[in-house]
Amino acid sequence: MGITNMNSIDQLTVTYQHKFGQMPAHIARAPGRVNLLGEHVDYNDGFVLPAAIDRATYLAFSPTDAHHSTLWAVDINQGASFTLADLSRKRQTDSTPLPEWAHYPAGVMWALQEEELFVPNINAVYSSNIPQGSGLSSSASIEMAFMVAWQTLGNWVLPPMQRALLGQKAENRYVGVNCGIMDQFASACGVANKLLLLDCRSLNWNTIPLPENISIVIADTTIRRKLTSGEYNQRRSACEEAVRLLSRDLPTIKSLRDVNLDDFNLLAGTLPVGIEKRARHVVEEIERSKQAQALLEAGDIQSFGKLMNECHASLRDLYEVSCPELNIMASTAQSIESCYGARLTGAGFGGCTVNIVDSGSVRDFVQFLSRGYESVTGISPEIYISHASNGAELLV
Ligand code: ADP
Ligand code: MG
Repeated sequence: MGITNMNSIDQLTVTYQHKFGQMPAHIARAPGRVNLLGEHVDYNDGFVLPAAIDRATYLAFSPTDAHHSTLWAVDINQGASFTLADLSRKRQTDSTPLPEWAHYPAGVMWALQEEELFVPNINAVYSSNIPQGSGLSSSASIEMAFMVAWQTLGNWVLPPMQRALLGQKAENRYVGVNCGIMDQFASACGVANKLLLLDCRSLNWNTIPLPENISIVIADTTIRRKLTSGEYNQRRSACEEAVRLLSRDLPTIKSLRDVNLDDFNLLAGTLPVGIEKRARHVVEEIERSKQAQALLEAGDIQSFGKLMNECHASLRDLYEVSCPELNIMASTAQSIESCYGARLTGAGFGGCTVNIVDSGSVRDFVQFLSRGYESVTGISPEIYISHASNGAELLV
């Protein structure tokens, strides 16, 4: 991490003063997340195992008497200004289109207004050290930071899961990205040093201590694929189609969560091959994630790591959301002895892998992985040791 948290807060405060001529009243922080197991299953009612990470969005803000909200996004050096009344038209106060990056905070304002909560105008400056589009949920962290801000200024309190659900609604219905609940959940509900196990159907969740002597390493391929939302929507449609076709024989199923592996194996031949591959990933991944809690609680990291490796192979071969660089990063890590498991994390097509590594050897691991990846791809990766952190919070 180039900048420390303290530095980034200081810089943010200075920028806020430049923009608005006074100190910000508050600072909020909302983390990104990394998912250890249960990939592409949140929208299939499955189980996910993320942790909030120590990379985050920091947001300096104050209430304002102005009749509009004013944002400044430090990392892209751009501002935007809008009122509640402008939200549905996606226009700024000067009638120009609201830039896409501003749809995330504006969407939060819109979702809160839909709930008839008080959402006063805000002056805000924000910055994040979560790489964008890398599978670590920079978008959810922005949403959850603004949730905390408006909760603070609006004088109401929502439980973190409720804030997560409204952030998801903002992203689904305002930004127009059909994401599941995992990203906002982890950013809102994170607990330091813990993994989070979420049942995406009931929304019940609990924490699992990260076993001792284990480090989470995030390895960024630095590859970013464009136009992945089409691919993502195709995967979602394939899952829905699988449910429709399987429900001819299994009339009670509502989602792939309801299909056990034995039934799936019996009926797999009735599905078109393309649909069968997508659905098999989901059914098998939900099976894997059901085993995770017991393995982690028993301290059986070897077996848990094997599930992560199987998950990567399944995302590569069945769900087909990997790319050559992610495969090289995962297989290089898997060949290093101190690594228990490695797989792509997030939606795929680029971005990061997540690795579970023996803490005693983690620095060597980072070096070997970095060199190994660079020697094959010619690309210098960004690899860092990550810590499970608390969810979105008001710092000041
Ligand atoms: P991710 O997997 O990182 O969540 P998304 O495509 O869902 O990727 O969200 C990325 C989008 O979120 C960016 O295109 C931008 O609009 C917004 N965003 C992320 N980080 C920042 C930032 N630091 N400043 C402003 N907007 C950001
Ligand atoms: Mg996102």
